Amino acid sequence: MSQAIENVASALTRIDQIDPRVRAMAAIWSDRATSRAETLSAPRDAKSPLWGMPVAVKDNICTLDGKTTCASRILEDFQSPYAADVVERLERAGAIIVGKTNLDEFAMGSTTENSGLFPTLNPWNPEYVPGGSSGGSAAAVASRMVEFALGSDTGGSIRQPASFCGVCGLKPTYGRVSRYGLVAFASSLDQIGPLATNAWQLAVLLGVIAGHDSRDSTCFDTPVPDYVSMLNEPMGRLRIGVAAEYFGDGVHPETRKAVESAIETLKKLGAEVSEVRLPHTKYVIACYYLICTAEASSNLARFDGVRYGHRTESPKDYFEVYSKSRAEGFGAEVKRRIMLGTFALSSGYYDQYYNKALRVRTLIRQDFDRAFEQCDAILSPTTPTPAFKFGEKSHSPLEMYLTDIYNCAANLAGIPALSIPCGHTSDGMPIGLQLMGKHFDEAKLLQIAHQFQQVTDFHKKRPAICA
Ligand code: GLN
Repeated sequence: MSQAIENVASALTRIDQIDPRVRAMAAIWSDRATSRAETLSAPRDAKSPLWGMPVAVKDNICTLDGKTTCASRILEDFQSPYAADVVERLERAGAIIVGKTNLDEFAMGSTTENSGLFPTLNPWNPEYVPGGSSGGSAAAVASRMVEFALGSDTGGSIRQPASFCGVCGLKPTYGRVSRYGLVAFASSLDQIGPLATNAWQLAVLLGVIAGHDSRDSTCFDTPVPDYVSMLNEPMGRLRIGVAAEYFGDGVHPETRKAVESAIETLKKLGAEVSEVRLPHTKYVIACYYLICTAEASSNLARFDGVRYGHRTESPKDYFEVYSKSRAEGFGAEVKRRIMLGTFALSSGYYDQYYNKALRVRTLIRQDFDRAFEQCDAILSPTTPTPAFKFGEKSHSPLEMYLTDIYNCAANLAGIPALSIPCGHTSDGMPIGLQLMGKHFDEAKLLQIAHQFQQVTDFHKKRPAICA
């Protein structure tokens, strides 16, 4: 049996055994993955470590096969006429997609509780949320149904679930990876990125999906470095910045302790750690939620029951085609964001809200430009607290939005950021560490993460469900 067939068979068996208890998968591609593995019988290409490897793809990334639902009723039967650039690249590299993963509807949320399908459970403890919106991808990797997955990150949706599920996740620089075929939530913030069990795998997957694509006009034509071969290079003089704004009162004591001890580990690896200032951090959440809702209200206008998606049955008139199709198709959080965004963009309020948010965005970006004059990477907790329980925050959208506090700035500034495991709470829940870097300096973040993982084993600990 070829390695590819064996890999796919074992991934499908694990999905069969574990997914009913985790519910990470929105669709399982058993037949398609098996037959693709059979056609991949050529000898393994040593230059492509993804050859014959099972990968799971978030269900807001278009695939030619199967459906692309965005976990929304409005797209429950949507079959994309084209595949995303990242999907084409995965397949060219010999990867085998074994299924699509669950998410908060249209990637709007932090827990997968907003999924129109069902919530995904945290593999470490089913009472806890897996994070979101790429909760399905993070849970699939955490429970080792797959070792590689793709997510999307508009304001933390790769890093936050990676940290809640004890896996690694990277949001690349804006423009590093093509967004062609990613169903848009907030186009100026969205990026596709990898989730995996360790930094080496992140480097492999990023190397495959990164690169220029003329079908996304915001995608940069900058050479893609060989991320994998750079992982073990000596780091030379490494300056790590720590910002007091990212260690505020809301940080859980066990999170603080784990991140502080990671700083000590990095010092032993030769890092110089100094304080940097990010003074506009207090405006990040307001700025992010104005910009992302404004862009979402415009992007989601296309789902109207005419051009795309669910159409209401027997409407009275054409007005009802739109209003009822959208009322029936979208969930509460998506509606909330469309309303907020429409308001922020309405004439009379545009300058007061949307334009002001754009200016604040520039100030936030300038904070990072200045900080990176003093350091090569900025370290913080990925999230103020470890995973919380289902229902704990879903009653209050504002409380939920505030949990994104350490994640959204990287999207507003367009810089790369990753999350890796750095400890566990006394209840056994994972804790994540975030590293933010200079534009297009993913290689440095991956190098730090990899060298940290050579001397620690937080990323090796698996949830009991894996036993
Ligand atoms: N949790 C954030 C939100 O709800 C981030 C979402 C994302 O990155 N897609 O908007």
